[in-house]
Amino acid sequence: MKILVVGSGGREHALAWKLAQSERVQIVYVAPGNGGTAADPRLVNVEITDPAALADFVVAEHVALTLVGPEAPLAAGIVNLFRARGLKIFGPTREAAQLESSKDFAKAFMQRHGIPTAKYQTFTRPDQAHAYIDAHGAPIVIKADGLAAGKGVVVAMSLEEAHAAVDNMLSDNAFGDAGARIVIEEFLAGEEASFIVMCDGKNILPMATSQDHKRLKDHDEGPNTGGMGAYSPAPIVTPAMHARVMREIINPTIAGMAKDGIVFTGFLYAGLMIDSEGNPRTLEFNCRMGDPETQPIMTRLKSDYLTVLEHACNGTLDAVELEWDRRTAVGVVMAAAGYPDDPRKGDAIEGIPAETPECVTFHAGTAIVGGTLQTNGGRVLCVVGLGDSVRMAQKQAYEGVDKIRFDGAQLRRDIGWRGLK
Ligand code: ATP
Repeated sequence: MKILVVGSGGREHALAWKLAQSERVQIVYVAPGNGGTAADPRLVNVEITDPAALADFVVAEHVALTLVGPEAPLAAGIVNLFRARGLKIFGPTREAAQLESSKDFAKAFMQRHGIPTAKYQTFTRPDQAHAYIDAHGAPIVIKADGLAAGKGVVVAMSLEEAHAAVDNMLSDNAFGDAGARIVIEEFLAGEEASFIVMCDGKNILPMATSQDHKRLKDHDEGPNTGGMGAYSPAPIVTPAMHARVMREIINPTIAGMAKDGIVFTGFLYAGLMIDSEGNPRTLEFNCRMGDPETQPIMTRLKSDYLTVLEHACNGTLDAVELEWDRRTAVGVVMAAAGYPDDPRKGDAIEGIPAETPECVTFHAGTAIVGGTLQTNGGRVLCVVGLGDSVRMAQKQAYEGVDKIRFDGAQLRRDIGWRGLK
């Protein structure tokens, strides 16, 4: 069987790597893929990104099933397009993907359906936004409505910062259309966790829990990034917390979408903030797997993922029980010089260790140029270590990391620190 994975990041490498382990899978195409997916003999890169051209490719190559990694093609309606042509694809429709592609849509949805989240208001006029900030004080959070690749959120600790963020988004159009409307919301304190489920339209299948590390530097300092590392499972999501999140957030979200006339298929990722009293609230929804959460999650998954995806496409996820490696997985991102503002490309990468049962390296911003592996984007690699404790998984991951060399590499040395507490 042939499978297509859409995307080029570490998430897509991990999904393709996992699918290629299925005995029934002949080829996994990755569009457009990266240097790591190009080098793996079980994977084949395809230089196509346009959804209609991808659908043509799927028909011509008899690809049985397509899995979409990133948000942009989902928001552009790749699932609608494939389904209209009778092609099997796992992901949300354009309408369902609004939970991620419009923060205003997501906030209004949560309010309408009683899903716990920060109090908020939406603005298009700067004067009204400034007045709201003055009335509510800092800390306060300013968010561009549309997709901004993780950069459209300002957690303002001072009024000055908050007003500047409003000017930047509404007056200076820093995010174009994505920031022409902004959400201003209450600052929530606590510990974050990533809660990801698969949904086939009616049945919900939770994936393993995880925690991301958004800030560039150790001790959660430095600017926000797409994610500098993640580990799974996240101890803060105890069985009781898991049940509560399902009851208060995930189930009402899928049911609320259905009530609003939208059948939700695909991954639903709730970014949670759990306060000191143990109350979970939703910071955001994503309609896809997280990157880098996917890398540790997929290395822990023991079940055949093709079978899971087939059930997801056929509406029979209730027949699936996932089996997880009991070990902890810690994924450490190695980023390029200049990331996140201005990542440098073209640095030669050396020393990537061969895969072992304790350590797997996934590629993201890499390319093979003239036969050598080079950096080709912000987040370059994610090295995942597995071990019987967070500490042992960290040891495996950092032993892998320390074998790899490229100029200007940036990484955190404390991935998984909350799990050590
Ligand atoms: P991504 O899709 O890359 O996860 P995003 O642009 O959709 O990011 P959010 O996840 O909504 O943005 O916010 C990014 C980060 O900002 C969160 O992970 C969290 O650390 C912080 N944040 C967002 N909203 C709040 C809030 N209300 N209170 C405190 N911190 C917040």
